[in-house]
Amino acid sequence: MPGRFWEKEIDTLKPKDLQKLQFRRLQKTLKQAARSPFYSQLFRKHRLPPEKIKSLTDLKNLPFTTKQDLRDQFPYGFLAVPREKIVRLHSSSGTTGRATAIFHTQKDLDGWANLVARCMFMAGVRKEDVFQNMSGYGLFTGGLGFQYGAERLGALTIPSGSGNSKRQIHLMQDFSTTVVHVIPSYALHLWKVFEEMGLDPKKDTKLRMMLIGAEPHSEATRQRLEEMYGVEAFNSYGLSEMNGPGVAFECPEKNGMHFWEDDFLVEVIDPKTGKAVPDGEEGELVYTTLNREAMPLIRYRSKDLATVYPEPCPCGRTHRRMSRIKGRSDDMFILKGVNIFPLQIDTTLMNIPEVGTNYLIVLERENFEDRMIVRVEVRPEFFKGDLFQLEKLRRQITEALRSEILVTPKVELVEPDSLPRSEGKAVRVMDKREM
Ligand code: AMP
Ligand code: ZN
Repeated sequence: MPGRFWEKEIDTLKPKDLQKLQFRRLQKTLKQAARSPFYSQLFRKHRLPPEKIKSLTDLKNLPFTTKQDLRDQFPYGFLAVPREKIVRLHSSSGTTGRATAIFHTQKDLDGWANLVARCMFMAGVRKEDVFQNMSGYGLFTGGLGFQYGAERLGALTIPSGSGNSKRQIHLMQDFSTTVVHVIPSYALHLWKVFEEMGLDPKKDTKLRMMLIGAEPHSEATRQRLEEMYGVEAFNSYGLSEMNGPGVAFECPEKNGMHFWEDDFLVEVIDPKTGKAVPDGEEGELVYTTLNREAMPLIRYRSKDLATVYPEPCPCGRTHRRMSRIKGRSDDMFILKGVNIFPLQIDTTLMNIPEVGTNYLIVLERENFEDRMIVRVEVRPEFFKGDLFQLEKLRRQITEALRSEILVTPKVELVEPDSLPRSEGKAVRVMDKREM
């Protein structure tokens, strides 16, 4: 089949040659990283200058880099180029504590666009396609990341951004959109809007493909979306620290997502011990950038849990594959594409004096829409108060949470001691979305 690969040579590089390329790029990356305040100090502390790292095994003598390091070094401690050379800032979609800043040079952005184009081409997007990107454009990487990738591929792009469902549908119809990039929970919701408008996406649009990612979802969700929309849906994975989209993506075999190992060195570790786990076993994904200038990251712990499949893929690509994300080694959860840590909710609630000691976060999927319910115990003296006061408190809590996590939860005030308590660690989050 002609034209199956975006860059045939790279896509199908023999594992041995891929390793050689990785090592060459790793050395360059380490030298580049040494220009940043953080890594220059780290190399000195561990007496491991880049020249001394002669194999991928040597690399493991360097400690992991963590999100906390990124926060501690905010904003410029990881920067490895002069400020004039950086042209863009992105950050994680969460709002926990201090933001993390990821910088790119123009060369970094070009490399990233090429990776996203490679992903899209692999799934089967071509320049004749009309591509509508329903991701938020802004600091979140799904907007601009896919935008430049799709332009690089040569498709007509519609940067529709997130939300505004009716307009999304009108755009799809007016310009005969064939491919969309969308967060799965939003795609489920959008289907309801089609229904409300008396439309059937299968008959009333030209959609043929859906690229879904940014949040955990099951095979069942994918199949449901494929049926609802009459499309093929492909899983797209990335994280802002590794650019964003373009880290791993499904090929037409849909048997896992190929990492782009010419750009990322992937390790899988046991999150408790930090030791490597064998291929085929679940662990936490750890990444080293291999082609980044502004902000190389070495052995970055993603907290994402998955399994790596080393077996060759029938599609002919030699880059290894990963399973769906099975969970996180921290307690972060993702709602409507936004990263949320229970600690944020805890802090917000506990700062409100009327709030009692216990609360429960319930994540539900109703009518294909994800929502968060926060059940909050109220202190006895306030609970006895009049209904008007209670409603006022409920609104105040809702607003405080909304401004902290950027998602509006449904807040329910409950009687003191009415929520279940566990013997050991409190179970604060009940995720009922995939049940
Ligand atoms: P951000 O850096 O804000 O873009 O968030 C990145 C995180 O989103 C990742 O570390 C994953 O936990 C999650 N994520 C991204 N893509 C997927 C996907 N396809 N499936 C499951 N989780 C994903
Ligand atoms: Zn494949």
